[in-house]
This record gives sequence, C-alpha cells and structure tokens, in this order.
Amino acid sequence: TSIAKMVIKRICCIGAGYVGGPTCSVMALKCPDIIITVVDKSKERIMQWNSEKLPIYEPGLDDVVKTCRGRNLFFSTDIETAIIEADLIFISVNTPAKSFGIGKGRAADLKYVEGAARMIAKVATGDKVVVEKSTVPVRAAESILKILRANNKPGVSYQILSNPEFLAEGTAIDDLINADRVLIGGEDTPEGQAAIEKLCWAANAFLAQRISSINSLSAVCEATGADVTEVAKAVGLDSRIGAKFLQASVGFGGSCFQKDILNLVYICECLNLPEVAAYWQQVIDMNEYQKSRFSGKVIEALFNTVTDKRIALLGFAFKKNTGDTRESPAIHVSKTLLDEGAKLHIYDPKVDHKQIMYDLTHACVTDDPEKVKNSVSIHDDPYSATSGTHAIVLCTEWDEFVSLDYEKIYDGMMKPAYIFDGRKILDHSQLLKIGFHVETIGKRLCR
Ligand code: NAD
Repeated sequence: TSIAKMVIKRICCIGAGYVGGPTCSVMALKCPDIIITVVDKSKERIMQWNSEKLPIYEPGLDDVVKTCRGRNLFFSTDIETAIIEADLIFISVNTPAKSFGIGKGRAADLKYVEGAARMIAKVATGDKVVVEKSTVPVRAAESILKILRANNKPGVSYQILSNPEFLAEGTAIDDLINADRVLIGGEDTPEGQAAIEKLCWAANAFLAQRISSINSLSAVCEATGADVTEVAKAVGLDSRIGAKFLQASVGFGGSCFQKDILNLVYICECLNLPEVAAYWQQVIDMNEYQKSRFSGKVIEALFNTVTDKRIALLGFAFKKNTGDTRESPAIHVSKTLLDEGAKLHIYDPKVDHKQIMYDLTHACVTDDPEKVKNSVSIHDDPYSATSGTHAIVLCTEWDEFVSLDYEKIYDGMMKPAYIFDGRKILDHSQLLKIGFHVETIGKRLCR
C-alpha cells in the first residue's frame, strides 16, 4: 500500500541488455512524464545505446528509442547518480548459469545481482522501491533485501518487488506493449513471490520441453518416413495442446532456456529429487542430440567428408529478428563442421561479423588458434556466401532466406549442390525441381 501511494518520477534500470534496454524504452514511450535512466557498467554498450546503431536488434526498437532518447530516456554509465536520483530501481542484470557444479544442474550465478544490490546499498538516499527483473531463483529477493537493510543508513528505506520479464527476443517490443501477463509480487506475500519467481523459469522449461518433444519425434519421423510437420499440425489442433512451440528444428538456443532448465535441475538435485532432475535434464540432452544429429546429417550426405569443402551457413542468430547469438545452434553446427575440416562461408543479416568470429573462436579452442581465422569467411550478402560452395546449411529462420533466388544460387554452386534446411522454412519441392539435393528435419526427401 505504501508503494501504491508513492509518486514515481524517476526510474533507474541497472543493466542495459536485451531486457533492460527494450523494457525501459517502451516504458519511456508509455510514460512520458517519468524520467528513465538505463545504466550499465559496460561503456561500450552505453555508447552504442546513445548512437545510431543500437547494441541489439529488435523490430521496432530503433523508432521507440529515437522518439524517447534525450526526452525522458537516457543511457548512462553514471550508475551512482542514477540510483541516487531514482524513486524506483530495476535490477535487470544477467544471471548466467554457473559453469561448475557437483551434479548435472547448474545454479544461477547471482554475482551480478548481488553487485547491483551492493551498489544500491552503498549510494542510495531516501525511499527506494527496488524491482527485481532478472530471472532469479526463489529467495533471491530476500537476499537482496538483506544486503540493502544490513547497510542501511538513516533516512533510507527500501521496498522490494519481483517483476520477472517474459519478453521473447525478436518480438520484445510487441511482447512489452501487448504483454500476455504482467506479474508483480511484493515482500508482503512471500509465498506469492516465491511462486512468481518459480514461474519464470518454469515457463521457459515448459517451452523448451515442447521443442525437445517435437524434435524427438522428428527423429522418429525420419526413421519411419513420416512428416513431422503433419504430426505437429495434427497434435497442435488438439485444443488442450495448441500449435505454438511445436516446430521441429535444428534445436533451441538463446540465453534463457538452457540456463533456466539447468537451474531447475540444480534445484531438484538440491531438493533430493533426482528423478525430477533427470527428467528436465533430458530436455537439454535432447536439444544437444538434435544439433549433433543435424550436423551429422550434413557430413553424412556430403560423402562422409567435409574436409576442405566450402559450406555456406545461412543464419547465425539463435532465431530470426534478433542479432543475439547466445547458445545459437549455428555455433554448434559450425564447430562440428570446422572440426571436420570444412571451410565455412557465413551470412547473417543482423549479427556483427566480430561477434561471429568471437563465438567461433571461443567454441573451437584447439591447438591451432589460427584455425577459425583460416577456415571462416563472413559475407555481407547471401549470394556471395553461397557462391562456389558444395552445400548450404540453413540455421536461422530469417524471412529473407525464403525468397532468395535459388536458381541463381544453384548455378553458382559446386555440383551436386546440397541444401540442409534446419528450420523447415524453404519450398523443398521447388528446390528439388531446380536440382538441389535437399535434406531437412523430420522428413525424408528423395531426389
Ligand atoms: P544481458 O547480458 O543482455 O544484459 C545484462 C547487462 O547487465 C549487461 O550489459 C551487463 O554489463 C550489465 N550489468 C551486470 N552487472 C551490472 C552492474 N552491477 N551494474 C551495471 N550493469 C551491470 O542480459 P539480458 O538478456 O538482458 O537478461 C537480463 C535478465 O533478464 C536475466 O536474468 C535473464 O535471465 C532475464 N530474461 C532475459 C530474457 C531474454 O530474452 N534475454 C527474457 C526474460 C528474462
């Protein structure tokens, strides 16, 4: 109730990433009377938010930022001042899975959340509402409050709220404007808050599980000659199930699904629920299997060797309409092909060239540090990427890939020319007519 009575004039958001940036931009658009400052410790990220080329790509984001930036939306590295001036502070920092652990699960690393809380505790003055937006495990809010109150100064008071974000990259602006649900929990209702915190990764675990379920069936369809698209359509028509997140593909990626499930597995292990942990771990294992299965399919079709073969990789982002490559299946596929000696020619409409080289260099830690440099070329258009190649491997479902001139592409390729459609978006019968050998997920295609 005391929060409801507060007049919020200034907001600060700690973390200018995929969540903090778009969320605050939309908030600034919708609340022109509130001044919103998004802060980050990364100078480069803030510089990009203040430039013409924003650090992340989201449809519609450029326009929203252009309308609000300098009016009531600001990006800054001056974290202390933004905290001091704000009535309400969002914590929207990254919560990666730890890279170590005893079982298979991985706890969420809360070091950045703790860092943000300590910074607030150090500099805050007056009454502050602190809103946890990051995906955090149960009881994290309690820990934040402990840090804040343990460092309390006279005249400072805190209230803490949980408001987990459900936006999906690629549709973030629409998700924020037309949200399916907005969840807010406060410290007055600890049970309610625990439920909200659980819900965020439970939702991601369910979505990922649907993808792994349909992907598992894609393997069965390939083995039996059925078509997974038809299976998904029939299953999805059942109103109890629904059609969303039932598209078979090379596998899921992104920063959230894997880490949130690993966190769930970790919690189950801690609660001594090994069967439940194993159940959710299987969702990740199936995703790894799908990526390996797809890469294996490419190698097998190319006469079981890709050594020194030129292969075009179309799409590097983990899904369309984002430039984000975190946990992208394209990284896994590229690594396998590079390990087998292929020469990759990569094109993605939105991913930075530097980012691709960074991801591949980190994925391919080998004895030969020059390997990635010598074996990867990055292109600015799909036609130069595919020219002279033996095969095209499509890893991201960008719309522009559907309408490429495949006759022209075919003419410029080595023969026999192969296409591996990891997203099931191309017109396979047209490609077969042109002369391509076509392989996809969940369906056997004959030439
Ligand atoms: P991100 O990595 O894109 O951005 C986090 C930012 O926080 C980074 O720029 C980092 O420099 C900054 N940061 C970290 N510690 C800081 C500190 N002490 N002071 C100032 N800046 C600091 O992460 P993201 O994708 O925006 O995710 C943020 C949270 O939201 C995570 O918990 C994630 O699980 C959750 N989430 C993400 C998505 C998504 O689609 N990306 C969706 C829903 C929820």
